[in-house]
Amino acid sequence: MAPDCCLDRASTGVAILLLLLLLSLDASALMDTVHHRPWDATVVAIDIGNTNSCVAGYTDGRAQTMFQLCIPSWVAFTGNGTLLVGDDARNHAAVNPGSAIFGFKRLLGKRWNHWYDTEVVQRVMKTVPYKLVEKNSNPLIQVKPNGCVAKEYGAEQITARIIAKLREAAEAYIGRDVRYAIFTVPQHYNQAPTESTRYAGQIAGVRATRMLDEPIAAAVAYGLHQKLREEGNALVLHVGGGTAEASVLTLVDGVFQFYSARHDPFLGGDDFDQRIVDHFVELIKQKHGKDISNDKEAHGKLRIACEQAKKVLSTRRHAQLAIESLVDGLDFMETLTRAKFEELNHDLFLKVIALLDRAMVEAELEKKRNMVDEILLIGGSTMIPKIQRLVRNYFDGKEVNASLKPDEVVTLGAAALLTHPSADG
Ligand code: ADP
Ligand code: MG
Repeated sequence: MAPDCCLDRASTGVAILLLLLLLSLDASALMDTVHHRPWDATVVAIDIGNTNSCVAGYTDGRAQTMFQLCIPSWVAFTGNGTLLVGDDARNHAAVNPGSAIFGFKRLLGKRWNHWYDTEVVQRVMKTVPYKLVEKNSNPLIQVKPNGCVAKEYGAEQITARIIAKLREAAEAYIGRDVRYAIFTVPQHYNQAPTESTRYAGQIAGVRATRMLDEPIAAAVAYGLHQKLREEGNALVLHVGGGTAEASVLTLVDGVFQFYSARHDPFLGGDDFDQRIVDHFVELIKQKHGKDISNDKEAHGKLRIACEQAKKVLSTRRHAQLAIESLVDGLDFMETLTRAKFEELNHDLFLKVIALLDRAMVEAELEKKRNMVDEILLIGGSTMIPKIQRLVRNYFDGKEVNASLKPDEVVTLGAAALLTHPSADG
């Protein structure tokens, strides 16, 4: 029988630690509510992304020096049960693809047998290396390090590891305890995933002072409440690594409200990378007579190179891919042009615009596109020039706001609210 080892020990330790943490948290949290408003204690802004998660705040709690840190939303269990989080997990997974846990944000608050959730859970299952099992109608992530008994974790527990890592990083940076956070959540979230995110924070010892909609955070970062004064409309398009969301919001008497939101839980940078990977797998087959489709290691190396090339193509027209001894001693050397990249992803980019259009239709603005005063692009994939161009075309050439780094803007906006708690009304 497999020993009930590593993880057991690890999780017992964590459980005791958690208990201690919760005990100390409860007493001190009570003190805080008595003596301070929560934002007098160290509050940070946390954005859990499907691909990357960020924390931002102020080193002195007073809007003097701001810090921001992001890590990949990845967790990995090594063979001996050690838990890796963020960059360490991603690096470990690059050589041990089976150990990676990613894409779990989509599972937050999902029920196994709910009509819509089931579809998402089934699709997640097809794209990740870990196993999902049902327990009390919840999808649980099954982890089985070498020689250990399998353990199941809820998406909240895995998310809590990411939050704990961000918390530690923030504490190291500011030299004080972090016990509260504003959490940003996608606009389409209903109560279940919102509460799951809040609970993940609690597990990590970080209490949510507020759950803030991502598009509002972006609007705050761009100062729309000042720019539009009392009223106006904005379209926020988020294209991240795995998901896309389009929302139309409006400022009425200085307060943000939503007209509509549309999201696609399986559309983003990972899909764009996959198209490049498929292209080169085919090319290698034709040029060198080698099929790497089932070679996990070669595939993994190629994927990393393709993502890098994609990023390069956001600012240049050509990107070089070079992988030493990719397969059977073959050194892989190819060029990818921006034009080819756009051709490979043409239909996916149109899907992004179709999503945007659906949000506009729902807001009854698709025939009155000039009534959209501001267009905000958020999420790393909106750095792709073709996506920016298609959005501009949709709005008859109107300029888009992309001056702030799109993969950081949500956390920045949420952090701005730490010092101006009423900025969004
Ligand atoms: P999420 O918030 O969904 O976790 P991010 O906003 O961090 O995701 O976006 C991550 C995605 O953005 C990845 O697919 C990454 O490859 C892509 N990305 C990051 N920078 C660029 C860039 N310069 N050009 C194109 N894509 C990029
Ligand atoms: Mg993000």
